[in-house]
Amino acid sequence: MKLETTVCVLGAGPAGSCAALQLAKLGIDCIVVDKASFPRDKVCGDALSSKVLTQLKKIDENIAKRLQSSIFKKDSWGVTFIAPNNISLEIPYAPNYLEKKGDPGSFVCKRIDFDHFLFREMKMNPGIHVYESIDIVKQVRTENGYLLSNASGNFQVQAKMIIVANGAQSPFTKEIAGFKVEHKHYIAGIRAYYSGIKEIHDDNFIELHFLENVLPGYLWIFHLPNGEANVGIGMLSKSVARKKINLKKSLLDAVQNTPELKDRFAKANLLGKIQGYGLPLGSKKRKLHGDHYVLTGDAGFLIDPFSGEGIGNAIYSARIAAITVAEAISRDDYSDNFLERYDREVYRVLWPELQLSHKLQKLARSSWLFNFLLRLGSKNKQVKALMISMFHEVNIRKKLASPMFYVKLLFNKS
Ligand SMILES: Cc1cc2nc3c(=O)[nH]c(=O)nc-3n(C[C@H](O)[C@H](O)[C@H](O)COP(=O)(O)OP(=O)(O)OC[C@H]3O[C@@H](n4cnc5c(N)ncnc54)[C@H](O)[C@@H]3O)c2cc1C
Repeated sequence: MKLETTVCVLGAGPAGSCAALQLAKLGIDCIVVDKASFPRDKVCGDALSSKVLTQLKKIDENIAKRLQSSIFKKDSWGVTFIAPNNISLEIPYAPNYLEKKGDPGSFVCKRIDFDHFLFREMKMNPGIHVYESIDIVKQVRTENGYLLSNASGNFQVQAKMIIVANGAQSPFTKEIAGFKVEHKHYIAGIRAYYSGIKEIHDDNFIELHFLENVLPGYLWIFHLPNGEANVGIGMLSKSVARKKINLKKSLLDAVQNTPELKDRFAKANLLGKIQGYGLPLGSKKRKLHGDHYVLTGDAGFLIDPFSGEGIGNAIYSARIAAITVAEAISRDDYSDNFLERYDREVYRVLWPELQLSHKLQKLARSSWLFNFLLRLGSKNKQVKALMISMFHEVNIRKKLASPMFYVKLLFNKS
């Protein structure tokens, strides 16, 4: 089969499906190709921040509403940070959240459900032509764009414009855009599903355990609507290699032997296998476009370097990609030069956040800092209030990323 199209979206994860949905909103038809057959699993923490809903609303309010009313997700109202010295601090996403309870915007849900939800939204759209179970392994530059094909060559798409959305291991990103994995800008992650963990927070605060031996990184416990929990560890690849850490062993060791976890896991069951996957970080600015293509989501290395969150940024970049491609079509200009505006718009919004998170990630290497900050936060209302506002105000996050902030705290002058 040989297809011809103006736009081909490569990959149907959150970035690919949202790029296609945004294109459809703009009246542009496209072809979407994915190597998986949906519903499919994706190794992830399954925690979706409010950025996801905010971006979906910008694409289509009705899709966002359908997601909000779906039963496969469990709302989450905040985060519990647990420092290496076992002091914990609960930080709601919004101050006075108990009085204002409505929809927190953040939730936990299995990626198999979330991605299938977006996939079905795509399939309902007559302008989006989806091809599943097609592994695109060749991308050849042609006079008018790219020719994508599978290994046997019996599936080919010729497109003027490619929205690359095929994730962290994208052959397009490697071979055409020339990105390389750099261990200081990459996280190694593993995920397990458990049932029967005790002591779940009433308002489903997600749990981040900053354990001494997985810094810079953390062990997470995110509770799912079906009583199961997603438990995993993410750690900077450079440190995994330097400290020769086996993340699977670290996870099992942590839940069996860490004093604050072992009782909670005493009757828990590990469901299936522990699985791993990489997280390409946006802690370095990269060129996200070239003649006839733009890179989105994990294929553009856009994951937050501190939180490991990538779904919100994937959807944001996909939305901007679709808007940029619509402009390119109207001018019939798919050149490197024209597509430069895509990078400008993506980084205008994401770069300040990514830079701050990179600073926080560097600070998180020292366990004493966590111990100090959480001890202070648990005793001092002002520090706790500051940490709560960190979720909403970039200026506050800036403060937390500044070494002077800690010096002032030490001398009680903040
Ligand atoms: C262990 C771990 C924990 C994480 N936890 C979180 C979290 O809690 N919250 C969060 O926001 N983010 C988290 N992330 C990051 C998040 O998973 C990614 O940022 C997100 O999936 C990016 O979406 P995407 O659409 O760019 O890529 P993907 O979701 O990877 O989708 C890519 C799609 O492309 C398809 N594809 C791949 N190769 C080909 C090919 N050759 N041909 C055709 N199709 C192809 C795949 O089948 C897939 O459907 C985590 C990641 C990991 C590894």
